Amino acid sequence: MTALIELTNVSRRYRSGDETVVALDTVDLTIAAGEMVAIVGASGSGKSTLMNILGCLDQPSSGSYRVDGHETARLAPDELARLRRDHFGFIFQRYHLMPDLSAAGNVEMPAIYAGMNAGTRGERARSLLDRLGLADRLHHRPGQLSGGQQQRVSIARALMNGGHVILADEPTGALDSKSGETVLTILRDLHREGHTIIIVTHDASVAAHADRIIEILDGRIVADRRKAQMDGPVAAGAPSLTRLAGVSRLRHRIGEALPMAFRSMAAHRVRTFLTMLGIIIGVAAVVAVVGLGEGSRQKVLAQVNDLGVSTIGIYPGQDWGDERASRIHTLTPEDATALAAQPYIDSVSPVLATSGTARRGNVLVNAEINGVGESYFQVNNLKLGRGRFFDRHGVAERSQLAVIDDNTRRRLFADDPNPIGKIILVQQVPMVVSGILAPRRASEAGRNLQIFLPYTTVMGRLSGPASSLNGLAVRVSDSVDTRLAEGAVASLLTRRHGTKDFFIFNSDQLRKTFENTSRSMTLLITSVAAIALIVGGIGVMNIMLVSVTERTKEIGLRMAVGARRIDIMLQFQIEALAICLAGAALGIGLALAAGSGIGSRDGEFPMIFTGASIVIASASAITVGLVFGYLPARNAARLDPVDALSRE
Ligand code: ADP
Ligand code: MG
Repeated sequence: MTALIELTNVSRRYRSGDETVVALDTVDLTIAAGEMVAIVGASGSGKSTLMNILGCLDQPSSGSYRVDGHETARLAPDELARLRRDHFGFIFQRYHLMPDLSAAGNVEMPAIYAGMNAGTRGERARSLLDRLGLADRLHHRPGQLSGGQQQRVSIARALMNGGHVILADEPTGALDSKSGETVLTILRDLHREGHTIIIVTHDASVAAHADRIIEILDGRIVADRRKAQMDGPVAAGAPSLTRLAGVSRLRHRIGEALPMAFRSMAAHRVRTFLTMLGIIIGVAAVVAVVGLGEGSRQKVLAQVNDLGVSTIGIYPGQDWGDERASRIHTLTPEDATALAAQPYIDSVSPVLATSGTARRGNVLVNAEINGVGESYFQVNNLKLGRGRFFDRHGVAERSQLAVIDDNTRRRLFADDPNPIGKIILVQQVPMVVSGILAPRRASEAGRNLQIFLPYTTVMGRLSGPASSLNGLAVRVSDSVDTRLAEGAVASLLTRRHGTKDFFIFNSDQLRKTFENTSRSMTLLITSVAAIALIVGGIGVMNIMLVSVTERTKEIGLRMAVGARRIDIMLQFQIEALAICLAGAALGIGLALAAGSGIGSRDGEFPMIFTGASIVIASASAITVGLVFGYLPARNAARLDPVDALSRE
């Protein structure tokens, strides 16, 4: 017979504090394929240590261990995992079943790591459990099964991937004698079918079932007896496994990890929710802020666009707030006339704005008083609600006509349905109301009152003789490029004034200024949201670290049945991701709900949700899950199988 298992000079020493415990002392042992061996010895003699080394869960401190001719010391952790998965089947004294999984689920687990597809897997688990007399217990949880039944489930699990070599550490130790007898009978049958069976026991009557009994004392083999061959092994029949490869294998692993993640999230609902809270708040903040920003941006842009891109303003001074502006008197109505004569200009109006009082009867209000030309309304695209605008003659004759906006009408003519032709006092001077502007859209209705008079009237009758203007409002012809027209206007006025003592402002610049400020606001609030996400991520990491600690034993078990490091890593990484994604979904929902709540009130805080903001929020949640899930997942993957398994 060929040596399947070959230990040469193997020692295993444990270091505990300053002392070194020698659990195995220069052990030489050879076991052939198909043997049924019992390893017996008192408690503490080193049986489990030997078993762990045989099963590649642990490695010798010195000496050589070969499986099928392969030196195990030279195998990488993942190759050892593959060896455990494909060759060994473990049976533990305390069964080590996963309490959340059904009997069938437990039996299937090793096949998940072998990449067997779900259909084949379920079929095989059913037939194994059927064979072990558990056909009617497939969907029972371990807690609903007796000890003997649980041990039979664990035998089925050991056989799932083939289990050429069955390693049973005190398999009957926790069972009554009848169940123990059943388990031993099953092991004998498996031996007869060609499985190599290695049983560790302190019980001589259990050992009696084996063909070969190895006695161990204080880490040394002190006896190795063979009985007369009881019944020879049949050729080992390796089971044929349907394996998946490459990408579909990764997809398969993710597919397996997802339900595991959801099960563990469901098992700790409150904790999971609290963990998610940080992510929920962070994502909701990102989405809501971006939505609000977009909403107000579009609102302002709509207002800017109402002016039209072809509207430009000309003001004295170098720029807004120029302190010399009030002393510059070169901007005159003649400039307006000269500009109006240019072919690229659609219309021009002088502007002379002050604030003052308006009064009707005993109602006295403060209003913005605009002295303008007859073209002003066209330049600024103002629409008339009722009555008429004043015309060129009205301006030329300094007529006492007023166009008022709807706000002013409401204040001064609250009780009068027909203000046209009525008299109001503007700065004590009587004016006839000739027109009323159409009400502005609710979203842009300011609180200010506006009254428009001919600028000649303002100059001549209100503020005393003054010849210079606050500015010129210009509308460029539709067919002309605004930028070119701006250049032409600038050179014309510079020529007229002899110097450039004015500046030109157009709605494009207004838009840019606004977009800049709104961009920096968005940036600011987004960074606050990012901080919330990071804090949320730290919460996720914290809980995942706890989860890894709590589930150390589960991790050990998964490693024993053949999970590679990457499998464990993937499981926890996906769990972190699932928490973050669920949090993101809730956060997005929260933001949308808040948006429809606030947004529907009066359009004052419009929220506009773009696909981009939702994608960005989800992407950041994924990033948080990947980044903050990494450390716990790595910790889990780096656990030592023996350590993890023995953790209580
Ligand atoms: P058995 O299974 O035969 O009862 P073990 O193999 O579990 O014995 O233990 C053999 C010896 O090694 C014992 O003296 C035990 O205290 C020691 N030992 C086992 N595991 C460890 C460990 N992780 N650290 C330190 N000493 C250990
Ligand atoms: Mg033991």
